Order: sequence, then structure tokens, then C-alpha cells
Amino acid sequence: MKTSVRIFWFRRDLRLDDNHGLYKACKDGTTLPVFIFDEAILNQLQEEDARVTYIHKCLQKIQTQLKQFGKGLKVYYGNVLSCWEKILSTYDVETVYFNKDYEPSTIERDKRVVNLLNQSNIPVYQFKDQVVFEEHDILKSNGKPYTVYTPYKNQWLKLFNSEAIKPFPSEAYIHRLMDINTIIPDLSTLGFKHSIVPVKPVYFDALDKYDEVRDFPALNQTSNLSVLLRFGTFSTRKAIDLALRTNKVWLNELIWRSFFKQILFHFPHVVNEPFKPLYSDFPWRNNTDEFAAWCKGETGYPMVDAGMRELNSTSYMHNRVRMVCASFLCKHLLIDWRWGEAYFASKLLDYDLSANNGNWQWAASTGCDSVPYFRIFNPELQIKRFDTDLVYIKQWIKDFNELSYPKPMVEHKVARARCLNLFKEHNT
Ligand code: FAD
Repeated sequence: MKTSVRIFWFRRDLRLDDNHGLYKACKDGTTLPVFIFDEAILNQLQEEDARVTYIHKCLQKIQTQLKQFGKGLKVYYGNVLSCWEKILSTYDVETVYFNKDYEPSTIERDKRVVNLLNQSNIPVYQFKDQVVFEEHDILKSNGKPYTVYTPYKNQWLKLFNSEAIKPFPSEAYIHRLMDINTIIPDLSTLGFKHSIVPVKPVYFDALDKYDEVRDFPALNQTSNLSVLLRFGTFSTRKAIDLALRTNKVWLNELIWRSFFKQILFHFPHVVNEPFKPLYSDFPWRNNTDEFAAWCKGETGYPMVDAGMRELNSTSYMHNRVRMVCASFLCKHLLIDWRWGEAYFASKLLDYDLSANNGNWQWAASTGCDSVPYFRIFNPELQIKRFDTDLVYIKQWIKDFNELSYPKPMVEHKVARARCLNLFKEHNT
């Protein structure tokens, strides 16, 4: 006889507290929590990937918390549909609950899973958890999605009330999880090595003065919440609550996150194409040697090189520097934003398709609400404004004052003029 179960499927919500779907599942009755390592995603990664290590650690943490109550997390590895078939052959599944995801490929995958479950007459319930306002919650009066941030933000603020961040106290229902003894497969079984790249600890001490400190990479006083929000180890509702009590500018950043998620949902073509069709045939120069120098942090522009070296050694880069590096690649070197986007995607521990794509297209001027093409960051001026004492630069460029440090690979004025000409020519 198969055991009857209600299943909660953990995905980008690796926490036991304030978890919408988990709460609803447990409220309804005894629940088996499940996580699936999707081989379609894992197969694309290097053997040592900080994100896989992080996910694994989060699962272990959940497992340790559950063990105290005699509960356990069931972890699968493989093709997601095959894993579900395995679950169906092991258990008599009554209902499945999970929190929604807004990435096109995940939406497709989830549709296949829902179809499979529905074929066995298993109801599936999906919940909003990653954001406070999703998909169709914020639309223009004509029913179309917003494509400009400021009116989106204004509408977000208008629609917001404390109900939107009312917690779902899933942590109070752990006793409703199934009594089960499980073992989480170790990383090597999944074909991965343990990554030593640390996750930066969250930092909330400077939130009150976030607007004053956020642009200075050497201060390093932003929240470091991106990794936790990416994997759902920190609840978005809690983050918004914190922002409301601390700093409006920080809240704006969380709204940018939400804005890019709805852009990706409504305009999935942005995954491979510019948001603005005008740029789909833009004649990028795409010099591979120059791209390699940018990746290594050897452009001769210290702010760019420090950023890329920080990224290469920590899987993180400060936001101000991300903007400078992205702008330099697209505008100074005229390299397709998709190359830079893919490089960031392969490195960033907080890699998130909607935020990465949205910001890259912003920097390249191909995006929905992007920087005008004629606004070209001057990497030297950025140092004067945001790293006057070269503290950040010297932290990441050890040979800064040595002969070994490369000369600028292109002159700023020349690159700027070349970029402006190309964009002007293309736009007319
Ligand atoms: P804080 O400054 O404390 O901000 C709080 C939170 O707001 C962040 O954790 C993040 O969730 C959100 N946020 C902040 N800025 C942005 C933004 N511009 N767009 C969307 N959300 C934002 N962020 C990612 O989470 N994943 C990415 O893959 C990513 N790629 C980027 C690529 C480029 C080229 C640029 C310019 C920015 C990118 N960002 C990305 C946005 C931003 O750089 C990071 O979210 C931020 O640096 C993370 O540090 P923090 O958590 O201390 O942020």
C-alpha cells in the first residue's frame, strides 16, 4: 500500500519561515516536503559552482531544523518529470503545492509537471511568494504591463498596503510535516565539488543611510540580500517590511527587482533578444580578444578591472561597478550585451535571469527603460566620484602601481565618439 501524501515542492524558496506555499500545504494537512535537483540546470554548470554549494547548504540547514522534530526533506536528482514519475510511483499523492516562478523556461517546465499531475487527477496549487505584486497585479489602465519603471513604482506604491506583506507563518506548522527519516545526497553524488566562495553576510546596519552609502564600493554597506532573495532563503515580504521601516531608496531597489520580474514574464523575448526590436540587428564589434581582456579584468581601466577581478574571485560585484563594467563592455568596446550577460550569469552567486537581463539591457540601451544611448559612463570619472582614495581599486588590483598593470585598451574619448556614431547611424 502506498502512503497518501500532500506534497510541498521547494524551489526558489529555501526557508521554513514565512513560506506561502508551505504554509498553505501544512494548514491543509500532513505534508511531505520535496526538493528536486534539476539535471537540466545542473548539467550546464561547472563542477565547482558556488550556487550549487549554497543550495546544498540551505537544504542541509532545512534538514537539520526538521530532524529536531523527527521530520525530513526528501531530495531527488534528475530530470524533473522523471523525478515526479518516481514520486508518483512511491506515494499516493493527493495534492501538490508550490510557489510560482516567473522565468519562461521554468513556467514551461512547471506546465509539464502540472500536466503530468493532472493526468493522475492530482490537484496542484501555486502561490505568490517571490514578489509582493506579480504578473497581472500591476497593469496600466489599458490592461497592458508597465515598461517604464517610475510609473510602475508609483502604481506599486499606490496599490501597496500592509496586507501585501502579511506573513504566512509556516514555521508554526512544522509539526504538520510528515514523520520521515531522509538523507540528502552529498555534492559529489550530484557530480559537484564543494565551492569555497563565501556568501557575504547580510548587512542591515547601514540601511538607514543606504541612499548615502550605496554607491561607494569600498564602503561595502549595501544589504547583501541578493543571494538570499534569489534562493528565497529570506522572505521578500520581510525585506519589503524592513525597507518600509528604514529607507525609501532601498525600497526602490526592491521594486526594481519586481519590475524586471514582470518585464521578463510579459516580454519573454528579452531572454535572447533586445527589448527594443530596433537593436536586434545592431552591428556590435564583438572582438573576442577584447572580450577576453574584459573578462580577466585587464582592460587598463581600474574601475572595470577591479570589478571584474572582484567578480572572478568572489562571485559578487558591487552594483555601481556592475553598471560601469557593463557600460564599458557595451559602449566602449561595442560588444554585444548578451556576451557580458552570459559571463555574469556564469559567475554571479546572486545570478537572477530577470535582474541580470534587465540591467544588462539597461546598460546597453536596448532595454525597456534603459539609459539613453548617448549616456556613456566615463570610467575615470566614476573613480573620482565613487572611489576617490582608490581603496576599492587597490583592494582588487594588486599590481595597480606596477608596470605589469595594462595600459588602457582603448582611449575613452575615441571609444565614446565611436559608440555615439554607431548608435546615431543605426538609429536613423
Ligand atoms: P542592495 O543594494 O542592498 O539592494 C537590495 C536588493 O534589491 C538586492 O538584493 C536586489 O534583490 C534588489 N536590487 C538592487 N538593485 C537592483 C537592480 N538594479 N535590479 C534589480 N534588483 C535590484 N541583481 C541580482 O540579484 N542578480 C543579478 O543577476 C544581477 N545582475 C546585475 C547585472 C548588472 C549589469 C547590474 C548593473 C546589476 C545587476 N544586479 C543583479 C542588480 C544589483 O547589482 C544587485 O542586486 C546588487 O548589487 C546586490 O547587492 P545587495 O544585495 O547588497 O543590494
